[in-house]
Amino acid sequence: MGSGFSLNGIGASPGIAIGKAFLLPAWEWNIPDEAIDANDLTFEFEKLFEGIRASKLELELIKQDISEMIGKQESEIFDAHLAILDDPIFMNEVHNIMKRQYKSAEVAVKETIDKFALMFDLLDDNYMKERATDIKDVGNRLLKHLLGVFPETAPVPDEPPFIVCAKELSPSQLSHMNPQQVLGIVTMLGGTTSHAAIMARAMGIPFVLGLEGKLAEPLENGDLLIIDGDAGTVHIHPDDKLVETYKARKSEWLAEKDRLNAIAGVPPVTEDGVRLELLVNMSSIQDLDAAIASGAAGVGLLRTEFIYMENSALPTEDEQFDVYRRAAEKLGGRPLVIRTLDIGGDKNVDFLALPREDNAALGYRAIRISLDRTDLFRTQLKAILRASRYGNVKIMYPMIASVEEVRAARDVLRMAMRELDDAGETYNADIEVGIMIEVPAAVAIADLLAEEVQFFSIGTNDLVQYALAVDRMNEAIAHLYDPYHPAVLRMLKTTVDAAKRRGISVSVCGELAGDRLALPLWLGLGIGEISMSVPALLPVKKELLASRADASAELLQRALACRTGAEIKALLQAGCAAIPQAEA
Ligand code: PEP
Ligand code: MG
Repeated sequence: MGSGFSLNGIGASPGIAIGKAFLLPAWEWNIPDEAIDANDLTFEFEKLFEGIRASKLELELIKQDISEMIGKQESEIFDAHLAILDDPIFMNEVHNIMKRQYKSAEVAVKETIDKFALMFDLLDDNYMKERATDIKDVGNRLLKHLLGVFPETAPVPDEPPFIVCAKELSPSQLSHMNPQQVLGIVTMLGGTTSHAAIMARAMGIPFVLGLEGKLAEPLENGDLLIIDGDAGTVHIHPDDKLVETYKARKSEWLAEKDRLNAIAGVPPVTEDGVRLELLVNMSSIQDLDAAIASGAAGVGLLRTEFIYMENSALPTEDEQFDVYRRAAEKLGGRPLVIRTLDIGGDKNVDFLALPREDNAALGYRAIRISLDRTDLFRTQLKAILRASRYGNVKIMYPMIASVEEVRAARDVLRMAMRELDDAGETYNADIEVGIMIEVPAAVAIADLLAEEVQFFSIGTNDLVQYALAVDRMNEAIAHLYDPYHPAVLRMLKTTVDAAKRRGISVSVCGELAGDRLALPLWLGLGIGEISMSVPALLPVKKELLASRADASAELLQRALACRTGAEIKALLQAGCAAIPQAEA
């Protein structure tokens, strides 16, 4: 390859790696598709069952290794693989191809993997797309046993450590690598919620993905690379100067990581003694250990959609209860705010067969679905209520726009409680119930809503979208999506004032809560807690420890007097002292 160049992909695991490329060979199968004799079917079925048995045994061993090496939660990734081997739909397909078309076990398995992987790949949802990798992964494992070949222990270059480069990386492939030998990972395909990405984050390995179609020439073994997992960039054949720059950046990054880890146990209090609880948002319970290790005061938003999106059928009450209970127990008394299903809009669930809508963000979604499909809603509420025995569990409803909706939700909650009473199940009858404030109508009637619930959590992601009429998914108008718009700031103030007057608690759980720049707003508004993504927590805490609540209150007054989002942003950037009084 010629002189150096840089590419932009997606950062899937933070950190910087500098090293030589090692190209992981793709799993390629050459399986002759010949019909078999009817008399051989019994033998083929025996081979299949033996292959499944051997694959399961191997997965159990990997699970055990990963649990010891990385963590129990990461090891549970392989439960999904075990479940595929038990999945009746997947296995029926294999059996039918064998019985009806007289094909060997390996041909039937290969055809079934291809069919299911394609099906998942074609889905709109990124999370579901990445499940195609899991199907291919477990299918390849099974094929390996059926064919008696073992390509996954790829040859390792003589000089580790290296940067692993692959078209896509399966969790199994990653599990077979020695973390000491892997400096970083680059893949052409994949997404940030893929299991390989989750494992890389837990292992602390920088990972950039999504380079498909961006490389003019393929990478070669031994190419010098720099990968920046925060920025999502890959530098190929960097010159000495760039290598030196990144070496310096890497040591600064590691030093900052140490400094941040050192404040995990420090109380979240400003210089002038004001406490602001820092909680985390989670879209699965995978990162719960990491959240607790970084000193989170609890989970301020558990997005429960993942339980529905991970399954090929509606999750049962017991399945949901199991997830909520595990999270509640792990948090050991710290709050766990479980948001009821917020599906629709940008998130879809296949088995609900939601209609395509022209205005999905304004359509059949979130609490609207729950109040329409009270069967689903009751099941979820019962699972949450049962989990309330195991920790400090709270319920939160998304997308509330009216008092009627809160009251209707309360009726369903009461019904769920009665059903549990009848079944002799116990739960916390005084469970706290709150709502997300993310629709402008809810802001306008915040005083009325505050009389109906015990807490508010402001969802700035949707509030900004609805307040400014800017679709949060539309890149063409992304520049108009301004969380610092004065309209948003006024809405925050109205909501917090209403909550305070009625004596209920209020927090913020949109992305803005994890933006260090916005911290003076929360301190100035006198909010007691904010909830953000796990990686944002310690940087925000560092800022908090160096902040003053009194200066923030002044800054907020000035921000409220600003006329544009740009002015508000500039004011916050410059800090309280450095900026002249904004014009009123
Ligand atoms: C929000 O809208 O701010 C929010 C936290 O919810 P989500 O991003 O899941 O819509
Ligand atoms: Mg929302």
